[in-house]
Amino acid sequence: MNNKDFSNLPLTKEMLHNLNEIGYKEMTPIQAESLPFILDGRDVIAQAKTGSGKTAAFGIGLLHKLQVKKFRVQSLILCPTRELADQVAKELRMLARFSHNIKILTLCGGTAFGPQLGSLRHGAHIIVGTPGRILKHLKKATLSLEDVDMLVLDEADRMLDMGFSEEINEVLAFVPKEKQTLLFSATYTDEIMGISASIQKDAINVKTTSTEVANKITERFYEVQNSQKLKTVINILSNFKPENVIIFANTKAEVAEIAETLQKNRIDALAIHGDLEQYERNDVLVQFANKSCPVLVATDVAARGLDIKELSMVINYDLPHGEETYTHRIGRTARAGMEGLAFTLISPYEADKADEYKNDSRLFEDAEALKVVNGFEMKPQNITLVIEGGKKDKVRAGDILGALTGEAGLDGSSIGKIDIYDKQSYVAIESKKVDEAHEKLKNGKIKGKKFSVWIL
Ligand code: ADP
Ligand code: MG
Repeated sequence: MNNKDFSNLPLTKEMLHNLNEIGYKEMTPIQAESLPFILDGRDVIAQAKTGSGKTAAFGIGLLHKLQVKKFRVQSLILCPTRELADQVAKELRMLARFSHNIKILTLCGGTAFGPQLGSLRHGAHIIVGTPGRILKHLKKATLSLEDVDMLVLDEADRMLDMGFSEEINEVLAFVPKEKQTLLFSATYTDEIMGISASIQKDAINVKTTSTEVANKITERFYEVQNSQKLKTVINILSNFKPENVIIFANTKAEVAEIAETLQKNRIDALAIHGDLEQYERNDVLVQFANKSCPVLVATDVAARGLDIKELSMVINYDLPHGEETYTHRIGRTARAGMEGLAFTLISPYEADKADEYKNDSRLFEDAEALKVVNGFEMKPQNITLVIEGGKKDKVRAGDILGALTGEAGLDGSSIGKIDIYDKQSYVAIESKKVDEAHEKLKNGKIKGKKFSVWIL
């Protein structure tokens, strides 16, 4: 007996035979951990890396539960993009080969509505789709979810990033209370745990990434003359090449100076401090969080309210005022089991205070030890488009996504975070696609209306 064998699960002979046919010889870790609970009818919240076989974990679960003879929608799978929904549907069709009669339908934005109506009239057992489009069908009563007894939120964190939380909640109102709910997410943020708490019952928590200790932060301290600090920051960035970094400084003047110097050195940086207007502040925080700018230079106060899940590095340009501030600052990196880097610069006159920071897990080095890397650049992965329309105009993530991914449109994978505020929305677009996206949005309509759109 091997606990990785599918045959240890209470599955039908037909299902087991098919799994063998499609080459699934044994369970992946996430499947082995979650399937016993899923098959037992429990709510499960699961975290695992990409490519770990999450689709089959919920797919086998929902197919096992499905009553094929009852031709009603019994499973609903919500995905962030059309591409992901298509992938899930493809995998489900392969897993469903043990029976001839299982109908799986995808309903996503960016594709024509009409043909979906036709398919819906023919009925389906399983619906895979994006929240926006599914909601549209529900509101038009072209889709009924009253027989759903299995709900899956796949890549829930990505759905929240794309601004779908409101639509998800509205879709849920159309699904019976009594059902099994599975939630998959690459990261566990407060928001994800909140959703789980509000829609799941006694959820079993399955993590296959937990072997990596949370908050694995490498802390380094560099003693450096004040005049050499900027150079040291650049050397740190070029030596360690973080994907994104927050540089904390104690004064507004320093923040502005650091950002300016970095820009002059082909390192894309934005500054945030107390003198900015609210809207300017927002523009900066959005761009940093949606990967349209890799470096943020900030004072402590200004960085409040910044919700960023994956931060590779924190640099303290000055020694923080006290260990508490230090811990708070560096705690922003190494979330979700990632590794984080925390660097602190100490000027000679701070040497005494720095002694208080000394312990075995912290490295104290000479800044001269960093080598100089020539030709280093830091460019953003995305560029942000601003749409002059938001919640007040009833603009939703699904509408923006639909306008961008419509016929011959952009791939869902080139679209990043979508943030919707009262009067404005921000959408992050992969840098090389931004002109194309800008044209599409400028010349097209969102919710039947024209909005001004510009590149931030
Ligand atoms: P993710 O966890 O990112 O959602 P997928 O569900 O897309 O990952 O699975 C990744 C790949 O692994 C797919 O090609 C899938 O067919 C394959 N796969 C899933 N489970 C198994 C298994 N038990 N044995 C072999 N391959 C598997
Ligand atoms: Mg997946």
